[in-house]
Amino acid sequence: MKFRFYLSLIIARLAYFFLKITKLSSGTAIIGLIALKICPDFLSYANEFITNAKINITGTNGKTTTSGIISHLIKKENNSLINNSIGANMLNGIINTLALEINPFKKAQFSVIETDEAFITKIYEKMNGDYLLVTNLFEDQTDRFATPLITKDLIQKGICLKKQVQLILNANDPITASLTSAKEPIFYGIRNVKEEIKNISSSSISNINCPLCGERLQYEKHFYSHIGNYNCKCGYRTPNIKYLADVTLYENHSIINIANEEFNVPLAGLYNAYNALGAIALAKELNIKNIQENLKTFKTAFGRSEKRTLFGHETVLQLIKNPAGTNEVLKTIDLNSNILIAINNNIADGTDISWIDQVNFEILSNTNKEIIVTGLCADSVADRLKKANVKNIKTISDIKKAVEYIGKNANDKITILSSYTALLKINKSKEIKKCY
Ligand SMILES: [Zn+2]
Repeated sequence: MKFRFYLSLIIARLAYFFLKITKLSSGTAIIGLIALKICPDFLSYANEFITNAKINITGTNGKTTTSGIISHLIKKENNSLINNSIGANMLNGIINTLALEINPFKKAQFSVIETDEAFITKIYEKMNGDYLLVTNLFEDQTDRFATPLITKDLIQKGICLKKQVQLILNANDPITASLTSAKEPIFYGIRNVKEEIKNISSSSISNINCPLCGERLQYEKHFYSHIGNYNCKCGYRTPNIKYLADVTLYENHSIINIANEEFNVPLAGLYNAYNALGAIALAKELNIKNIQENLKTFKTAFGRSEKRTLFGHETVLQLIKNPAGTNEVLKTIDLNSNILIAINNNIADGTDISWIDQVNFEILSNTNKEIIVTGLCADSVADRLKKANVKNIKTISDIKKAVEYIGKNANDKITILSSYTALLKINKSKEIKKCY
């Protein structure tokens, strides 16, 4: 009954207000749970409150940044938008966003919903989808997803419920590019990368098997991990790319050139160039105007190359969670900075910590500064760093104490590499301040 839907909107807002004044919980999942209890068909009713396009963003790495950029481009052109920018991307978190942001008196034009790979099916069972952008599929949280191919199958199952969804796919990822819907996918990808940066180090690359026939893929070009231009004996190869880019990477930004149109992306790192490229491709498909201009004012989300200050020191927060993403983040960090690595293995981080063995921490052996290691997995990380010939390691298991230590002892900028729940804890430190 629709009455239940309206009731769930009211109760969700009351619950939000109550949780906020009592400081009982940040509430992202619990409000979704309440709304769903009141109205089990919540997502079906939500459909009619988004008029123009329902967009979902999924993939292993880059969901939040890609969603952030596309949302920024949509909003800057005065379109109304519902977006789970707080990053709660599982079912209850998504319903939480919708329950708080749907205005029963004024429909929104767009929804941009960052969606956990395992929840596409749950969402598409009830909610319509016009566009699904998939950033990449890497090994991630091995306790939840066994391999990227299994994750791909989960997403494909969801797509089968919404066959008319327009896929926007990273063509350079052979696993992502093999997803299909009833419509021809639109591909984005990179032709060439030029690096105008100080610490050029080679990316760790991996060859994987063809997602169609299982044979080893051949690579004509590797950008990082299994991202590149590939072909297989069975005929599977990098598809024709509609949004084909040449990328130049600088210390703090990158330039993306698509068919002689230049986009200045205010983010470092090839992985962020991919995030921006995906968002640009989607924005163009949506006929969003002034992309070049509006891209320049994009600011990153929580923990994604986010700039803060800690005890007055310029500080960059970098969320890390799996080998492919971390290796790319490591390429962008300032090796003269004071570095803190904070890793937990709570459920939200992924309980299996073995991924750190695949991270190219060797890059940190080039710094003479003390590297502080903290969090529930401090000892495992310290052992991994020792194996990587990192010289000066200090373990302070308590995150709060470690943050204080680096803040008080730093003699330069600070870089914090952190898993998700460790970052939430770091964020609670009174000394860590926003720069803008
Ligand atoms: Zn093949």
